[in-house]
Amino acid sequence: MNQRWRSIALWVLPIGMLLLLSWQIFGAADLSKDLKSNQASAVSRNAAVTRMSYGRFLDYINAGRVTSVDIYEGGQKAIVEAIDPDLDNRVQKIRVDLPGLAPDLINKLKEEGISFDIHPIKSTPPGLGILGNLLFPLILIGGLILLARRSNSMPGGPGQAMQFGKTKARFAMEADTGVKFDDVAGVAEAKQDLEEVVTFLKQPEKFTSVGAQIPKGVLLVGPPGTGKTLLAKAIAGEAGVPFFSLSGSEFVEMFVGVGASRVRDLFKRAKENNPCLIFIDEIDAVGRQRGAGIGGGNDEREQTLNQLLTEMDGFEGNNGIIIIAATNRPDVLDSALMRPGRFDRQVMVDAPDIKGRLSILEVHSRNKKLSENLSLESIARRTPGFTGADLANLLNEAAILTARRRKDSISINEVDDAVDRIVAGMEGQPLTDGRSKRLIAYHEVGHALIGTLLKAHDPVQKVTVIPRGQAKGLTWFSPDDDQMLISRAQLKARIMGALGGRAAEDVVFGREEVTTGAGGDIQQVASMARQMVTKYGMSDLGPVSLEGDSQEVFLGRDLMTRSDISDAISRQIDEQVRDMVKHCYKETVSIVENNRNAMDKLVDILIEKETIDGEEFCKVLSEYTSIPNKDRVIPILSSK
Ligand code: ADP
Ligand code: MG
Ligand code: ZN
Repeated sequence: MNQRWRSIALWVLPIGMLLLLSWQIFGAADLSKDLKSNQASAVSRNAAVTRMSYGRFLDYINAGRVTSVDIYEGGQKAIVEAIDPDLDNRVQKIRVDLPGLAPDLINKLKEEGISFDIHPIKSTPPGLGILGNLLFPLILIGGLILLARRSNSMPGGPGQAMQFGKTKARFAMEADTGVKFDDVAGVAEAKQDLEEVVTFLKQPEKFTSVGAQIPKGVLLVGPPGTGKTLLAKAIAGEAGVPFFSLSGSEFVEMFVGVGASRVRDLFKRAKENNPCLIFIDEIDAVGRQRGAGIGGGNDEREQTLNQLLTEMDGFEGNNGIIIIAATNRPDVLDSALMRPGRFDRQVMVDAPDIKGRLSILEVHSRNKKLSENLSLESIARRTPGFTGADLANLLNEAAILTARRRKDSISINEVDDAVDRIVAGMEGQPLTDGRSKRLIAYHEVGHALIGTLLKAHDPVQKVTVIPRGQAKGLTWFSPDDDQMLISRAQLKARIMGALGGRAAEDVVFGREEVTTGAGGDIQQVASMARQMVTKYGMSDLGPVSLEGDSQEVFLGRDLMTRSDISDAISRQIDEQVRDMVKHCYKETVSIVENNRNAMDKLVDILIEKETIDGEEFCKVLSEYTSIPNKDRVIPILSSK
């Protein structure tokens, strides 16, 4: 290291001298000029600088009071020396803003025989300018030398030429994470599996004494925000060992070989600190199937992965280092990663069910002030599909809203608004009453009507014509939580419910007046119908799977989606999808037509109130027709 710097200095110094010299030669003319002006200013040393207007300046010239003019900044400014007859011809220095380098002015100065000088533009003070001029080539040359020296001294061939990564330690180390298993909720099974890992780290003798090999790697698999990072930290926290973490995407850099050197550094540091835990987030960024992808593999990624595998093989299982990796894409991982002796244990960390959500809410509401009648259970019920991170965010948003509304504790209204905001985006300004608001109201009431009248459909939670996010109006349904299997009737009901908006526009306003507002609905319908045909075997084509569910064209291991479906079959699939959607649409339209009176009434109420909850919707609708019993309680949160 020292030697390298010394030799760089040896190179850099003569070059610097050379540059300095050349500058002195080129800059000589400039310097002498400066000297002259210094002498001039020495003469009028006690002159004070004031300002005057351009017009006044011209008057001064005409009066013969101006003795010299120095023009700066490409003719924008001038310092004028003028004599003041009132103060017995004392010389004054006056600043003038000029309207640009006017030839007239120059001519005038020549005519009057006033000495003038035009100075070149200087953006920086002269001293700094020199430094700036020198610095740039110096940095460039220095950089080149550095590079050249490195590639010379590295015996690794061209791949090792740019070892920038070595100097940057990109992993983080926490001596104590401070996270305990108590802080992670709703993932009981994963926690159970991982408790063993804590024992591996804390009391390895327990296992080694009976001849057991301690596993080296655990792979946490689950969608983002479910608490994988948190779990890894909790393991380190419980075991009281340092936590090394690095994200897979940080391994992969522009330069080949950087990732590999980072892996080496990471393991080196970890070995110095054992027992410890290494956490590799987003391992799929490096651990993808090698050789996959369009245009061949990715050298850098493969080198990094190879290095990782080598490091994992290189240490004994009993030396107190456990590697935990996280991914939400286990399907794309290289199978070599999953071999025994590497990440041979997999732990699923799924989005929590209602009980899990409740316990996560309990964890995150510990430090929040909740109003007495706010039940966490009702929040858990309203948030199917929310992950731990979503729930943490929800409570935080609710707390922010509470503060903004100047209340002293979080009530159900804030939670409700926060859910809406997280799911559908920011609330917009209500539309002014008019034709388009009416159309939106019919569209939403259409969704809600179908949803309420079909027994297999989820019940309506609320309907609103207040815009939110991208949507101009919204109909909220309360899905049955933890429903593992969905029946054909339910899927059909969902398709019809989604078509309800368009059907209402169509029936009420006519075919020519339907709008683009149904675009999202129609996309959803198409995807549901196609899946029913190709994935779930719910069409006349019978229970055959007609499409692999791989959408990964270039990322995963399938280079292309499977194309073992003949043209004839794919035409049949299209036909089936179209038939199904057409049939559903027809039924939807007839339900809308048969309930036109109820709809008109509901739309009037909706336009007046802007939001109707499911209960009220059902009450009004039941005055016109009978509503199927949904044998499920409709969770009503807000009293809006
Ligand atoms: P992941 O790594 O799976 O993407 P994180 O562990 O980074 O998710 O979770 C982000 C945040 O969300 C955590 O810091 C925590 O506040 C919250 N969180 C996520 N899952 C849970 C959980 N199961 N229990 C408690 N909090 C959670
Ligand atoms: Mg994470
Ligand atoms: Zn819609």
